[in-house]
Amino acid sequence: MTGEHITFTGFGEPAVHLTVDFVVVGSGAGGASAAVILARAGYSVAIVEAGPWRAPEDYPSTTYGAMRDLFSDWGALVTQSRALWPIVQASCVGGTTVVNSAIIVRTPGDCFDRWTREYGIDGESLSRRVWEHQDRLESELTAQVVPPDARGYSNVLAMDAAEKLGWQSHYMVRSVTNCEGTGQCLQGCKKGRKQSTNLNYVPEVLQRGGVVMSCAKVERITSTGNTATGVTGHLVDPVSRKKGSPFFVRAKRAVMVAASATQTPILLAKSGFKSKPLGTLFRAHPGTGIFGVYDNPVDQNVGATQGWASTAFRVDPGFKLETLAIPPEMVAGRLPGGGRELVRRFREYRHIAMWVAAVRAESAGTVKPGLFGNTVVRYQLDEPDMRRFRSGLAMVAKAHFAAGAREIIPGIFGLPYKLNSDQISLIENGPLDPRCYIAILSHLFGGCPMSRDPSLGVVDEHGKVHGVDGLYVADAAAIPTTIGVNPQHTIMGLAAAWAERLADA
Ligand SMILES: Cc1cc2nc3c(=O)[nH]c(=O)nc-3n(C[C@H](O)[C@H](O)[C@H](O)COP(=O)(O)OP(=O)(O)OC[C@H]3O[C@@H](n4cnc5c(N)ncnc54)[C@H](O)[C@@H]3O)c2cc1C
Ligand code: SF4
Repeated sequence: MTGEHITFTGFGEPAVHLTVDFVVVGSGAGGASAAVILARAGYSVAIVEAGPWRAPEDYPSTTYGAMRDLFSDWGALVTQSRALWPIVQASCVGGTTVVNSAIIVRTPGDCFDRWTREYGIDGESLSRRVWEHQDRLESELTAQVVPPDARGYSNVLAMDAAEKLGWQSHYMVRSVTNCEGTGQCLQGCKKGRKQSTNLNYVPEVLQRGGVVMSCAKVERITSTGNTATGVTGHLVDPVSRKKGSPFFVRAKRAVMVAASATQTPILLAKSGFKSKPLGTLFRAHPGTGIFGVYDNPVDQNVGATQGWASTAFRVDPGFKLETLAIPPEMVAGRLPGGGRELVRRFREYRHIAMWVAAVRAESAGTVKPGLFGNTVVRYQLDEPDMRRFRSGLAMVAKAHFAAGAREIIPGIFGLPYKLNSDQISLIENGPLDPRCYIAILSHLFGGCPMSRDPSLGVVDEHGKVHGVDGLYVADAAAIPTTIGVNPQHTIMGLAAAWAERLADA
């Protein structure tokens, strides 16, 4: 029994009408993990995904190509606050799992404790179910430590630094089958080694008789009274982004929305669902990095894109340290200056290693539809978070010098282009204005936070939208706090646990 892949094939095609048991909006970490559980339980499932379905051999090689082919709106979404920090998310079948580094970290127990304390959920029961699913996910998605021959020099240098500094650290566990260390994770793994959901759970839903709609942007969740009944939208030309035929998918049992922390709240708001906390508690782990310059070539793009991490500072002061290989054009984009000066600076490319801090920020913002239907994210770090952010960068600097870096390029406005090991205090006492720093938001949380109390949360501890029957959230939008570790595994575990409960109902 094989299902059907419906996609944009041209303008003027007839409207698409479908009826299934469950509709899942979005095919990323949350959506695909939920959909496969429902399909395995024997239900008819339609995954409706806004982006196109790309095969690994068609993935782009450059950042430009990734923005064109794998992101919506060329990745132009930024925080609207003092600092315009980019919000990085993919829009394609597989969602952001296609462009991420596939780092797998179990949800720490203290997250469930906090959700119990602050949001009234039964953390003991939820943690048990999430961890059971994480066991299964690790086996199905081949969670493996980065193999020695794929580590690359940058990751080895970072491990050496942590040993010298006495920090607990490790080579990463990632859902990658025998990584070849091509350093291309952020543009999609052309080798098909990374277990993004377009390669496993989405095809499995098809094989089990489900429907996958790609280039199909949901514009509205339909409802009768206070019961969700399905979704509607238009197929979209992936090149011109113009609207094609409309589609109407009726859900006999439920709609699960997994369109991401920035899009799920927008979809609910545009569909007319009223809830005071809708669009609130948007949070992130802002990621910021420093280049170390080494005497020997580092060749950061040889080896796993990300292969080393330390969680030694996760709780206090609150950041995770990681290596991150970025493509040459992104390195050039981070170097100041132009013309000959930029070319001269870029000559050091082979000697540069990029290491980052993902900050476990407490600050919360909002995600709301703008006047023209666009997504408006208001988010800014408060002073305690800026102090955390700054100390994360100082630790990255220390690690580079412990590993033998000749100098570092901090990329902080107001500081010299390069610093030596005697100048780390300039970072420790650096500005607290977010506009002085380069950062991105790639670990996103909230917007439809989970709480037992409908005045605090949009969904309950089963992902069900308070006050609406048949409507569930199954993605990062439901997570009410930051977690201090990479979020994919938590999102997948929660989505699977909630889908399983629905399948058993
Ligand atoms: C560069 C990068 C590296 C990362 N590395 C890691 C890592 O190594 N480990 C880790 O744990 N996390 C990592 N993350 C974060 C992780 O990938 C995300 O947290 C996770 O994928 C979010 O899952 P999600 O289901 O909430 O959303 P997504 O995976 O983003 O999926 C949402 C999907 O919904 C679709 N959609 C949106 N709106 C609509 C609509 N209206 N109609 C239909 N479909 C819609 C989107 O097109 C998208 O495909 C990384 C992120 C980035 C950007
Ligand atoms: S480093 Fe290369 S081979 Fe390994 S998962 Fe990333 S893209 Fe694939």
